[in-house]
Amino acid sequence: MRRSGQGRPSTAALLPIYVLSCIDQEGQAVELSYSPHDSTLIDETGKSLLTDIDAADFTVATPVSPSMPGWKSDAPLTLKIQLGLNCNYSCSYCNQASEVGSGTVTKTADADEFLQELGSWLKAAPERIEFWGGEPFLYMAKLKRLVPDLRARFPLAKFSIVTNGSLLDEDILAFIEKFDIFIAVSHDGPGQHLRGPDPFDDPERATWLQALWKRRGGDRGRVSFNAVLTPANADIRATRQWLANQLGDAMLTLDTEGVVSVYDDQALAGPGHWSKDDYALLHQSIVEGFLDGQALQFGDIAYKARDFIHSLQTKRPSSSLGQKCGMDDPHQLAVDLKGNVMTCQNTGAQGKHNLGHVSAINQVKLNTSTHWSHRESCNHCPVLQLCKGSCMYLHDDLFTQSCENEYHYNTAILAGVLKSVTGLTLQSISGDIRRPPKIKRVIKVIAV
Ligand code: SF4
Ligand code: SF4
Repeated sequence: MRRSGQGRPSTAALLPIYVLSCIDQEGQAVELSYSPHDSTLIDETGKSLLTDIDAADFTVATPVSPSMPGWKSDAPLTLKIQLGLNCNYSCSYCNQASEVGSGTVTKTADADEFLQELGSWLKAAPERIEFWGGEPFLYMAKLKRLVPDLRARFPLAKFSIVTNGSLLDEDILAFIEKFDIFIAVSHDGPGQHLRGPDPFDDPERATWLQALWKRRGGDRGRVSFNAVLTPANADIRATRQWLANQLGDAMLTLDTEGVVSVYDDQALAGPGHWSKDDYALLHQSIVEGFLDGQALQFGDIAYKARDFIHSLQTKRPSSSLGQKCGMDDPHQLAVDLKGNVMTCQNTGAQGKHNLGHVSAINQVKLNTSTHWSHRESCNHCPVLQLCKGSCMYLHDDLFTQSCENEYHYNTAILAGVLKSVTGLTLQSISGDIRRPPKIKRVIKVIAV
């Protein structure tokens, strides 16, 4: 049961409207008015653009905050199982690095106990079950206990794993095939050095990655390669080409894990920090990628573009927007093998992100996070409908830099949609845009 209202919520009267200043194909200046709060895009004649289907009803999102905690369902649609936070890589911008010390250390036997207890609290079959590390294939013994049992209990659930792909071998590949697990390989293409060693540099590892793509990728759609966008791979078309060459598949479709967010000082001074030129390259490659189709070969960009167009078609109100990653949703549940509930799969239960325990799921409180509607910057942001607020537990300088990266990434997608749908080139956005407070700490930027 949802504890939020259904219907079409109204938006308050004084919400900002932005002017999108564009150039048309004849070089003439054109201005559009855009409201991210009621999803209207209006041209100079007053005509609404992209409103070819009726406005729909929406569920009002719960605006969680430490003083208004969210809750968690005992019938989650997505169950995220954290196996442990150990990894054989140490990515310079890892969103788990600051949490490793707070991760619950578990044994293989804990997987058996987890399975024994599952029926006592889980009241319905999840649609998706995700197995998370650290690097999940470091925990193969746990996976071999969990996956067959869960597959037998929930034959229709979609299983998935995000991995760095460095540990693949025939045993793991056969296991993936047998239990039909969707695999997302995190790899940054030409920016891979920010993660650590490149498995494509090792002939044996490269062979297993290619075998994974051949046996599970392409039309089968059971594997994707996912890049986090940083200044080292800001050109999305070059990133796609780099991975297509390694996998020997010119038609490679891939994904992004979005633009890099910043979780610690190392990332703030390094891969999380973009220059003006880095942002310009990201923008140009995304807009040009909309024109030659390469941007839409990234699942995440294609999804955002479709979702933005849909928001205009249905006049989606901002009050229906949950948080970017969905972990404010009661039906998305992250647990470790001891049954602790965490803010998300990237956080440890032995610290501030412990929200409670599955044995008392009614008492679980998501009190670590801040919905976008509590942030002045998000309320006054022209790309709110595309971004949905960056990471919900970041604050201060780490939020400021993450927001800056999201702002440029999502503005580029907005510009790409405008260009491909209307032929207009976005030049600038004006209006009551309020950015987060400037970064306060002194950082010595490290080139990446
Ligand atoms: S870009 Fe920044 S201000 Fe805009 S919605 Fe995202 S996090 Fe909020
Ligand atoms: S709260 Fe969401 S955005 Fe933040 S680290 Fe967790 S999954 Fe990622």
